[in-house]
Formats: sequence, C-alpha cells, structure tokens
Amino acid sequence: MTTPLKSTQGLAMALLETLFLEKCPHCKITNPNITKLTPVLYKNDALGERQIWRLYCCASCGSGILAKAENFLFEGAQKTYVTKIFPQPPRAISKDIPKLAQDYLTEARDGLSNSRSSIIASSTAIDAMLSAKGADGDTLYKRIKSAQEKNLLSEEMSKWAHQVRLGGNEQRHLVDERPTEKDAQDCLDYAMMLADILFVIPARVQAGIDKTKKETTDEEGEKNG
Ligand SMILES: [Zn+2]
Repeated sequence: MTTPLKSTQGLAMALLETLFLEKCPHCKITNPNITKLTPVLYKNDALGERQIWRLYCCASCGSGILAKAENFLFEGAQKTYVTKIFPQPPRAISKDIPKLAQDYLTEARDGLSNSRSSIIASSTAIDAMLSAKGADGDTLYKRIKSAQEKNLLSEEMSKWAHQVRLGGNEQRHLVDERPTEKDAQDCLDYAMMLADILFVIPARVQAGIDKTKKETTDEEGEKNG
C-alpha cells in the first residue's frame, strides 16, 4: 500500500501549489521555493485507473520536479496527497534521531558523491546512535557486539553493521581503491534503517500511544462528565 510523503512540517504532503521539500532534488538548496508549473493533471492507465500528476519548478535552479499523487480518505474526506517525486529528493533526517547522529547522517547524505568521506560519516553516525542507546565499548566493533548482546540489534542487522563498519574502516586506511557512490549509498541506507529502528519508529509508536491515551481519557471524561 502506498502512503503519502511527509512535508518538511512532518504532515502528509498535499498536491497544492507549492511543494514543501527540505531540499531541491536538482540543486540541493535547503528550503527551496518549489511552485506549480501546471494545474493538476489526470491520465487514465490501460486499466482505466486514474493517475494524478503535477509538474513543479524550483525557483533557484529552474529545474522541473514531477509529483505523482493519489486520493486518500482522511477524517471522512477525500484528499489528494503526493506519493512519489521525480527525481527523488534527498531523504529527510528525522528530528527523533540524536543530534550528533543527525549531523553525521546529513553529512553522509549531502556528500554522497564524495563517497569516501560519506562512508566514514555513515559509520560515525552508526557509532553515535549505538552509544546513545547505551551500547558499551571504546570501538565501533565492540559497540556493535554489545548492541547485539543487549538485543538492540538482531543478528542479521549486526552482521550487516559489521560490513558497513568495515567499509568505514577501510576508507580510513586504504587509499588506492576508491569506493563508488553506490558503496556510499549502501552505507547510508543501512545507517538510515538503523535510525528508523532505534529512534524514528519507537518515537512514532510512543506518539500513537500518547494520542490514543488522550482520546480514551477524553472519552472517559465525557462519559463521567
Ligand atoms: Zn533547485
């Protein structure tokens, strides 16, 4: 099932006249001014299913950005939300991640073309996230091991972490073989997934618990009041 993309305000992104992206997918400028070039466009596919599109433009670099949208039922009303953006913008770094790890993830993401430093930044982000969760050890290797012992990481996740860690280690020592941008993207993907598992998803679950708790209390208040 597709879900709406989130805007910079953390809300589902509606197909409005402006797209609120953290960065332009072309020129990577922060808080870009991205406005519509066309009205909302509809096109049926071969099965008669309606496809919803809108073309936008970045005021900074003048490049086109295409948004695909779908209709969703939200609080009893049908709303059109963006589900895909072409080209794909850089992934937002959640504020639920500890600040230090946020900084390294941002560095790794924004410097993907400089693959060697990006890989080192991803590895450092992993180290920062594991120490924030209380994994012991004075090296990343020991912290990954400790995280697995404390059930913060599954066996598969820790095996994968070691591969990323080794990547980071190699970049510090090996100078002959240049890693590719794909290698850097793999490390960043792992670091982002780890951030989701350790911080982003738990924060969302907690927010859900708090919301339902409040609603239940409100309902009980209404019944008793
Ligand atoms: Zn731009």
